[in-house]
Amino acid sequence: MRRIAFARIMQETNALTPVPTELADFEQSHYLTGDALLAAVDRTPNEVPGFFKKAELAGAVAALRAGGATPLPVLSAWASSGGKLSRACFDALTDRLTDGLRAARPDGVVLALHGAMGVEGLRDPEAELLRRARDAAGGVPITCTHDLHANLTRARVEAADAIVAYQTNPHRDHARVGKRAAELLLGILDGRRPTAAWRTLPMLLGGGKTIDFLAPMRAVFRRMAKAERRGEVASVSTFMVHPWNDDPALGWATLAYGEPAAAERLADELAEMCWARRHAMPPTFATASEGLAAARAARVRRKLGVVMMSDASDVVTAGAPGDSTHLLRAMLAEGGGLLTYAAVRDPVAIAALWDAPEGSEVDVEVGGHLDPASGPPLAVRARLERKLDQPGFLRTAVLAIAHLRLVVVEGPAMVMRPSFYRDVGLPLMKADVVMVKNFFPFLLFFLPYNRKTIFVRTQGATDFDAAHRLTFDGPMHPRDPVDDWRPRDRARRGVAA
Ligand SMILES: [Zn+2]
Repeated sequence: MRRIAFARIMQETNALTPVPTELADFEQSHYLTGDALLAAVDRTPNEVPGFFKKAELAGAVAALRAGGATPLPVLSAWASSGGKLSRACFDALTDRLTDGLRAARPDGVVLALHGAMGVEGLRDPEAELLRRARDAAGGVPITCTHDLHANLTRARVEAADAIVAYQTNPHRDHARVGKRAAELLLGILDGRRPTAAWRTLPMLLGGGKTIDFLAPMRAVFRRMAKAERRGEVASVSTFMVHPWNDDPALGWATLAYGEPAAAERLADELAEMCWARRHAMPPTFATASEGLAAARAARVRRKLGVVMMSDASDVVTAGAPGDSTHLLRAMLAEGGGLLTYAAVRDPVAIAALWDAPEGSEVDVEVGGHLDPASGPPLAVRARLERKLDQPGFLRTAVLAIAHLRLVVVEGPAMVMRPSFYRDVGLPLMKADVVMVKNFFPFLLFFLPYNRKTIFVRTQGATDFDAAHRLTFDGPMHPRDPVDDWRPRDRARRGVAA
């Protein structure tokens, strides 16, 4: 019986965020090993409680069982998007992975990786992880999963036997990619090794809203699904990149595995489709004042539900620190009369508040303590409504400041689901305006409440054009004019013209 090791090391890095990601961030978010990991992903899985019953590893384990293999749990570590991993954090996680693989002596390995992880002083950490994992496992085949916001590199294509990415945005096919990665691995062990074909585009932004079921990217995703359904290739992925990743060879990419000619044809066709969509830009954003005026004007919609405001410069799920005060300041100054739910990350404020009793009046400075781009701390007089400290969870305080209900969190909370507010005693239907720190997934989660969506841009780590400050290996669309993507593609892949 084949013995297949499986593991996850996953975080999406925003290179513009000055707050590093440490081992404790993984251990507090999601960290499982051994039997606890197997129990979380096998048979009746609950892989990431509160988020996914079945994610990549549950999908992989089910496919391994179906293929008659024995799954060997090693490690599953996931941290919220944020700054680069410190070198010590990366080394500790990698050592734990390689120790586990050495002990397991598997016949093959399936890894769940993000693909846009950054590490201080190390380029392309996922390629390094793949190489070290293969060494530790004794040179056996390795397949892995990626987010479609990953940056595909030559080192990575060479280091993995296959890479499979999500085909949904917002992402909801985690289990499918895990299953596919495991099936490809079992096929390789049976002697069916597909050839990799890929293309890379010097393109940072494009494709409009980049949602898989909406134009203009819908046609690309449908083409991929059709190719797999018809068996043109064994697997195909399109990578739309995380634009705040500081690899110089950043860019969209396509990747197909299969019979060489068909895989080359499909990777090329998809690259041309993506390049043709490069001028479709993300939606334009309102200023804070414009956004608040629009929320105030939406009287009927506020009666029927809430107005959602995305704090688009401080999107925690894209790695921003979550401590911006720009929109908060405007909400207090210009949003009078609108019952507003908002959030800010501030461990300093939590420490200052923690000894005050619930119901007391407090003077406190919130936000702006982590990233200078987040604006100065906001001094407020508030009523401390609630304090929550669930075991294994971050300390949270709810402040009432005039028309604002501000949830202060100690760590990087992904403010994108109704439960974030509901669980601290703030019923959604009572609010006029609800802030999220998220770009797109909240649109699905808040469907029952949302009557109007406003994306607000202030200044921060997830401004799309902030990525233009990064250094690239040549001209980068849309920052610079790029006439022909093919010369850079050939250089990045190491292919002669
Ligand atoms: Zn993603």
